[in-house]
Amino acid sequence: MAASKVEIAPFEVTPLDAIPAVCSTARATFASHKTKNLQWRLVQLRKLYWALDDFKASLMAALQQDLRKGGYESDFTEVDWVKNDCLHMINNLETFAKTEKLKDLPVTYSMMNFRVKKEPLGTVLIIGPYNFPIQLVLAPLVGAIGAGCTAVIKPSELTPACAMAMKEMIESRLDRDAFAVVNGGVPETNALMEEKWDKIMFTGSAQVGSIIARKAAETLTPVCLELGGRNPAFVTKKANLALAARRLMWGKVLNAGQVCMSHNYVLVDKDVADTFIEFLKIAYKDMFPNGAKASPDLSRIVNARHFNRIKKMLDETKGKIVMGGEMDESDLYIEPTAVLVDSLDDPMMQEESFGPIFSIFPVDTLDQALSIANNVHRTPLALMAFGDKSETNRILDEMTSGGACINDSYFHGAVHTVPFGGVGDSGWGAYRGKASFDNFTHFRTVSETPTWMDRFLRVRYMPYDWSELRL
Ligand code: NAD
Repeated sequence: MAASKVEIAPFEVTPLDAIPAVCSTARATFASHKTKNLQWRLVQLRKLYWALDDFKASLMAALQQDLRKGGYESDFTEVDWVKNDCLHMINNLETFAKTEKLKDLPVTYSMMNFRVKKEPLGTVLIIGPYNFPIQLVLAPLVGAIGAGCTAVIKPSELTPACAMAMKEMIESRLDRDAFAVVNGGVPETNALMEEKWDKIMFTGSAQVGSIIARKAAETLTPVCLELGGRNPAFVTKKANLALAARRLMWGKVLNAGQVCMSHNYVLVDKDVADTFIEFLKIAYKDMFPNGAKASPDLSRIVNARHFNRIKKMLDETKGKIVMGGEMDESDLYIEPTAVLVDSLDDPMMQEESFGPIFSIFPVDTLDQALSIANNVHRTPLALMAFGDKSETNRILDEMTSGGACINDSYFHGAVHTVPFGGVGDSGWGAYRGKASFDNFTHFRTVSETPTWMDRFLRVRYMPYDWSELRL
C-alpha cells in the first residue's frame, strides 16, 4: 500500500494558553443551539464518513508509523471500523433522537402528555489511549455528533502521527467551531480538565481513569470510563481445543495483544493443558509461517517504555515459557508468548499484559477456575469461555465482566451495533450503536398537564379537607 509515502506533519503540542479558547469556542457553539438540528448533525456525520475515505492514506500511514500496524488490520480495526459506526448513526439517527411518548402511565395521569426528549448533554471531552488511536477517539466522537454535542478530542501522545493525522482531518472537514483536537500529554490533559465539561469520556488505564474521575467529581461532571483489566479465558475438557487455541491465539496477536479485551491468562483443565499448548503452537505456525518477526501482520509495541514493561513480566516470571519468548528492543518486537504458571503471585497473573504475552494456568476443576478468576479480578472488561453449553452458562452465571464471549476471543466487542463497556472497575457506561447516542444524551422527561384538568386535580390542593369537595 502506498500509505507509507504519505507525509504526516511532525507532532505539535497544543500550546497550554490556547486550550481555554478552544474549549470556550466549543461551548459557545453548543450554546448557539445549532447542534440541536438533526440535519446539521447528519451533515457532520457524513463529512466525517467521507473524510475517513479521503484521509485513509494518511491515517493508515500514521498507524504504520506509530504501531507498525498492517494495512488489513488498520482498515478493519480503525478506519473501516469508524466508518461503520458513522453509517449506523446516520441511518438510525432519526429513530434514536425521536421523542418518546410514554404510554404506560397510571390511570390518574393518562390524560396528561408525558414524553422523554432526547437532548444533547452539551460540550464533551473525549480522551483516548494509544492502542487503537483512531478508533477509540473517533467512535466516541460519532456518538457525540449524533447526540448533538460539541466536542474536544485529546488523542494519545504516544501515537503522535495518528494524533496529527486526525487533527488535520477533523479540523479541515468538520465544523471547526464545534469540534477540535488538542494534542499533548499530561499537562495538556490537566489543562483540559480545568475546563467545565458536560461529560468526559475517557478510554485508557484504570490508574489514569481514577485521576480523571476524581478531578471530574470536583465539578460533578459525569464521566464514561472505558478501562482495562486482567481478562480470563476458560478452556474446559469439553472445549474444542484446536479451535480454542486458534481463536485465543488470534486474540493475542491482533495489534500485538495491545487490546483491552484480550485475555491475560487462560485457565485450562489440567488434563488437556498439554494438548491445548500443542494446538497453540500449530495456530502460531499457521498464522506466521515465516515467523512472527518477519510478518507484516504483527504490530510492534508502541514504545520502549511499554516494551520494557512487558519484558519485565517475562523476565520476572517463575513460569515456563512454552511458546515464543523472543524479544528485540531495537525493533520493539515481542514474540507471541505463552507462559505456563502455577502461582497466582506470578507477575504474569498480577499485571495487565497488554501485549502479545499471556499465561496458562492449569486447573483441576471448573470450580477452581472460577474461584481463581473471581479472585484475580472480580470485574474484568471481558471474559472468554470455551466449553460445552452447561459449562459456559455456569461461567457466565458465576463471574461478571463488562462483556463476554463464548467460544471466541472478544468478538462481542467487534460489532458496531451493540453496546460495549466495562463493569465495576473496568469501566462505567457503554457506547457503540444506540449506546453511543445515549452516552451523550440527556433523557429529559417532560409532562404537559391540560389546562382543563384542574378540576380533577382538586385533590392535590390544600386544604386536605374533603367535606367541602365539589367537582
Ligand atoms: P493511559 O491511561 O496511560 O492514557 C490514556 C490517556 O490519558 C492518554 O490520552 C494520556 O495522554 C492521558 N494521560 C496519561 N496519564 C495521565 C495523567 N496522569 N493525567 C491525565 N491524563 C493522563 O492509557 P494507555 O497506556 O494509552 O492505554 C492502555 C490502557 O488503556 C490499558 O490499561 C487498556 O486496557 C486500556 N484500554 C481500555 C479500553 C476500553 O475500551 N475499555 C480500550 C483501549 C485501552
